[in-house]
Amino acid sequence: MDYDGFFAGSLARLRNEGNYRVFADLERHCGQFPQATNRGAETREVTIWCSNDYLGMGQHPDVLVAMHDALDKVGAGAGGTRNISGTTHHHVLLEAELADLHGKEAALLFTSGYVSNWAALSTLASKIPDCLVLSDALNHASMIEGIRHAKAERQIWRHNDLAHLEELLAAQPLERPKLIAFESVYSMDGDIAPIAAICDLADKYNAMTYLDEVHAVGLYGPRGGGIAEREDLMGRLTVIEGTLGKAFGVMGGYIAASCDLCDFIRSFASGFIFTTALPPAIVAGAAASIRHLKQSCAERAAQKAKVAEVRARLDAIGIPHIDNPSHIIPVMVGDPVKCKYLSDILMRDYGIYIQPINYPTVPKGTERLRITPSPVHSAADIDLLIAALEVLWTQCQLARLPMAAQ
Ligand SMILES: *Cc1c(COP(=O)(O)O)cnc(C)c1O
Repeated sequence: MDYDGFFAGSLARLRNEGNYRVFADLERHCGQFPQATNRGAETREVTIWCSNDYLGMGQHPDVLVAMHDALDKVGAGAGGTRNISGTTHHHVLLEAELADLHGKEAALLFTSGYVSNWAALSTLASKIPDCLVLSDALNHASMIEGIRHAKAERQIWRHNDLAHLEELLAAQPLERPKLIAFESVYSMDGDIAPIAAICDLADKYNAMTYLDEVHAVGLYGPRGGGIAEREDLMGRLTVIEGTLGKAFGVMGGYIAASCDLCDFIRSFASGFIFTTALPPAIVAGAAASIRHLKQSCAERAAQKAKVAEVRARLDAIGIPHIDNPSHIIPVMVGDPVKCKYLSDILMRDYGIYIQPINYPTVPKGTERLRITPSPVHSAADIDLLIAALEVLWTQCQLARLPMAAQ
């Protein structure tokens, strides 16, 4: 076997398909986000328009103070797995904060949202006898991998399609264990699941519910508990899963659920037991971020206003974007080469960083620029973004919608 030849050949195929990923080499500046330095081929200052640090909490003073403080007091690492030597007082406090955020008895911390989905879903689906997992067709890779690893039976329901979900549920014996896995805000289209109606079906057909609120925690609900908090549904969900790495601006993942369910995952999930715990400084920073967003709506309100403004400005120049009820603005390009080109020129000529989203992240023909306005984008940032898109849309001969009345 020519190992290197195999690697090179696989990469060449990816390049030919236009699916080879190039990372932007960025250096953010604390206190000046969304500005950053691009350390690519030529060094230049750029404005980030595609970050999942949705509220700029990654540079919030409360978060930084908490992290510095923990680092100075307890040092760098947790010192091991939670099991052996890595459960610190900061971990205990953060789990209490998370349980409170979601109105649950308990919460369990993981090293990332990916790991929390993978570990919790694979453990539930493999340990519950004869468990059937009903998974939304657009679920995140971390959920899909967790379910696949469990080797339990899995059925995919068409995205947000209640009739299809009910059809699948109704075909099963009422007493068979079932787990409905879905998300609240879907990150590529920005649409939102009908959570209440899914809970109704779960009640009717005796199923558990597992909700990924990764793109909603910190952002929705009076205390940032997510869409389920906003819609007063947290008590109806069996498991709520979230990340500390997006709107909360730090890193880590978690589930919130009953004491027994969390204890069960703690006791049986390989992805929880056999990996070093998060560093206390990370944990302290995440807790500070959650505490801040529980009592402050200013960031959420400012984000909403910025999102509405960018949408209105795109409408005014006829640039097509998916109209959805969330903070995610998918600007539709519909061509992988043009999508990548737009992204390259935005960076090179305008100092605007928006990663192109191509297949396989989204279906072919729906390639897009995914824009995530935040409270820290200025009026001048928005002006430049709109002016650049206006020019490039014409240059790339992309279709426009009828202009909104001005
Ligand atoms: C990003 C993401 C995750 C993983 O969370 P991380 O903390 O980044 O590992 C899980 N679910 C969804 C829907 C995501 O977009």
